[in-house]
Amino acid sequence: MTKAQGKAVAKDCGRATRITTALTQWFRANARDLPWRATDAKGRRNAYHALVAEAMLQQTQVSRVLEKYSAFIARFPDVHALANATEEEVLSAWSGLGYYRRARHLHHAAKNICKNHEGKVPEDAESLRRLPGVGRYTAGAIASIVYGHAEPVVDGNVTRVQLRLEASDQRQGEPATERWAWKHASDLVARAADPGAFNEAMMELGATVCTPGVPRCEACPLRKACRAASLGLASTLPVPKVRAGRRAVYHSAVVIRDRQNRLLIQRRPERGLWAGMYQAPTVEREDRAATASEIKKWFGLARIVEKERFVFLTTHREVHFAIFTSSPPPSPPAAARWACPSEIAALPLANPHRRILLGEETIQTR
Ligand code: SF4
Repeated sequence: MTKAQGKAVAKDCGRATRITTALTQWFRANARDLPWRATDAKGRRNAYHALVAEAMLQQTQVSRVLEKYSAFIARFPDVHALANATEEEVLSAWSGLGYYRRARHLHHAAKNICKNHEGKVPEDAESLRRLPGVGRYTAGAIASIVYGHAEPVVDGNVTRVQLRLEASDQRQGEPATERWAWKHASDLVARAADPGAFNEAMMELGATVCTPGVPRCEACPLRKACRAASLGLASTLPVPKVRAGRRAVYHSAVVIRDRQNRLLIQRRPERGLWAGMYQAPTVEREDRAATASEIKKWFGLARIVEKERFVFLTTHREVHFAIFTSSPPPSPPAAARWACPSEIAALPLANPHRRILLGEETIQTR
C-alpha cells in the first residue's frame, strides 16, 4: 500500500467511525418505543420476541405489526407454545398480516429450535440461517440486536440510506446494488461499538428521517457526512428500481348464507396464494372472470346476484374479485362446509376473504 492509499483508508475508517458513533447516539435518544424492543432487568432483548417481530416486519408496516404483535405473543408466549400450536392456530393469529408463508416458516422455525437447540434461539448468524424462513437479514438482525454480534443487516431502508450517504447512482433493487449494500454494511458494523444499536439505528433512520421521496435532512445526525445532501441530490437518490408488473387473476366468490345465518366456506389448496386459508366458495381463472352461468354450474346454484367488485393487490398479483350472493344449493359444493360467523372469525382468513365473509374493512383496494 502506498502512503497515499494508506491515508485514504485511514480517512475512510475515520468517516465510518464518525457515522456509526453519530447514528448510535441519535438512536439512543430517538428510538421509537416498540414492544419487541423491551428488555429484561439486565437490559437484554428476548430472542424469541425478536424472531417473531422480524418475521412480522418483513414487507409489513410497523403500524400494522403493532396491531397484531402483542396478541400473538400473548397467545404464544414462548417458543415452546408456538412449536406446540397447530398450523391453523398460528395462521389464525397471523390473520391480517398477509404473506402467510412467513407464519408457516415461523412455526417451523419454533419446532426446529425446540428440537435442535433445546428451545433457545441460536446466537450465531450461521445457525440462525439454518432455521426455516430465516435469511441473511433476519439472521443478522437477531445476531446483532439480541446477541451483540457484528453482523450486517440490509433492508430497503438501509440500502436507501447507504446510497444517499455515498451519493451513489446505483439502482436500488439490482443484485449488484444489494451486494454493494451488504459489503458497505459489513464495513460499517465492524466499526460500531454496539453493532445491534447501529443496525437498528440505520433501519430507524431510513424509516423515520431518510425516507423515500424527500428526506428530512435537517433532522439527520449524518447530515455532515452525507454526500447526497452536500451535493443537493438527497431527494433524487436512490435511482428507483424497475418493478415487474403484477399478473391479473380473476376470483369470483359466492357468499351463501343459510337460515341459521351460517356461511358456506372452503379451504384453499395447500400450495400457492393464501395456501390453506379459508374463503367463500370461489371460482378462479387466469384469463378472465368466470361468467354467471359458469359460477352457477360450478357450485350447483339456481340463481346468483352480483354484490360488488374490487381489486386486491399482492406482491405479484392483481386479484380481481367479483362477489355474488346466493341462496343455499340443495347440497353444499364439494369441499365446502357450513360455519357460523364467530367460527369463521377465528379461522385463518386473508384480508379480502375477511371482508367478503365478515364484512370487515381491513384492506386497501382499488
Ligand atoms: S442527510 Fe439526508 S439524505 Fe443524507 S442520510 Fe441524512 S436524511 Fe438521508
